[in-house]
Amino acid sequence: MTATLEKSGSDEKKRGHVPTVGFVSLGCPKALVDSERILTKLRAEGYRVAPDYAGADVVVVNTCGFLDSAKQESLDAIGEAMAENGRVIVTGCFGVEEGRIRESHPGVLAVTGPHQYEQVVEAVHAAVPPVHDPFMDLVPAEGLRLTPRHYAYLKISEGCNNRCSFCIIPQLRGDLVSRPSNHVMTEAERLVKAGVKELLVISQDTSAYGLDLKYAESPWKGRPLPARFQQLCEALGELGAWVRLHYVYPYPHVDNVIPLMAEGKILPYLDIPFQHASPAVLKAMRRPAHQEKTLERLRRWREMCPDLAVRSTFIVGFPGETDEDFEFLLQWLREVELARVGCFRYEPVAGAPANDIAAVVPDEVKEERWHRFMATAKEVSEKRLAGIVGREIDVIVDEVDDEGALGRSQWDAPEIDGSVFLNGDTALKAGDIVKARVTNADDYDLWAERV
Ligand code: SF4
Repeated sequence: MTATLEKSGSDEKKRGHVPTVGFVSLGCPKALVDSERILTKLRAEGYRVAPDYAGADVVVVNTCGFLDSAKQESLDAIGEAMAENGRVIVTGCFGVEEGRIRESHPGVLAVTGPHQYEQVVEAVHAAVPPVHDPFMDLVPAEGLRLTPRHYAYLKISEGCNNRCSFCIIPQLRGDLVSRPSNHVMTEAERLVKAGVKELLVISQDTSAYGLDLKYAESPWKGRPLPARFQQLCEALGELGAWVRLHYVYPYPHVDNVIPLMAEGKILPYLDIPFQHASPAVLKAMRRPAHQEKTLERLRRWREMCPDLAVRSTFIVGFPGETDEDFEFLLQWLREVELARVGCFRYEPVAGAPANDIAAVVPDEVKEERWHRFMATAKEVSEKRLAGIVGREIDVIVDEVDDEGALGRSQWDAPEIDGSVFLNGDTALKAGDIVKARVTNADDYDLWAERV
């Protein structure tokens, strides 16, 4: 076990209990460097390194999996840490054999593989949260963020298992890698404690969350929480913040989160990047989910949650898109009455398979289709917003100046959707959530008065 005893200065004593991590590092120099990186990160966050098992709040065992003898040594080291301390996180090369580790030591808190620094550190956070001292620490407890204080993006996975023909994200970022559910929840809780009122759940394919982990459970608040879309939404819904879902594909299991929206646990909002509606174009795009059943699915969702707002993005001028495909898209758009839409003119991305489709749509046709698409979207939005006038809604405030407050409804995500103007209401502050009655609407925005 590393025998680095960190100085316990009087400042630290004054700050109360200092979270302390024990570290066992096995294997080759590469594993040692991994250990050093993990320790550096933890030390920078205020953790102390314990000289023995007894003084540690949690023990990290960095394993080696090169030879059978090394694996046995790793299993023995995990066993010793379990016996001496009982709270053990396993990482390193042998971590790829999670099944074998858990078979021998079912009580380990988390298992991560080689080079997964972020996951190890998150597992330590989940086991022993860092103690933040605003006078001593340069980085705020919730991390450094580029968003305003009252909303934050919460990334639940990286990469994507789909292979859409216009996209090179899987080439750049690889297949889906989900974060364990308790890592996501630890971050979400920390954000809410730091004053975040709205969590914007993001990934490349949010509804596929946990597939790569085989929906593995991890401990959260004394109960096992599966890495599964529905259960994660339920847990997020308990934090008392607005929870907004982005990049959701209409897979059948999305049906299960609609009741949470109807009950007010998460926002009645789904950002579904449909990209097109014509079956021929969707096939050429190689889009996930059974799009031909989408209309039926949306109808059912609206029956369950009449307030549901679906926002989406589309691409016009995809290679091979005919006039008929485009008319089909416009008709579909009118029928589904999407709350918000964005539209891109197709652009070839270097390395994307769609570039091999010969039937390129000329630029002037793309342009004309884009304008017609946006005009139809505007019509749909105007009609929908007119129906909201007179209703009492919740508004989250984004900005306040001398003329009043600017906010958003539960149907509007920051940056991409519409606004709610609370003219003359200067007593509010960013992050307030207030009740207001809608007095007026135009194509994309609402005007309201606080009630
Ligand atoms: S467009 Fe989205 S779903 Fe399709 S491959 Fe790219 S990241 Fe995955």
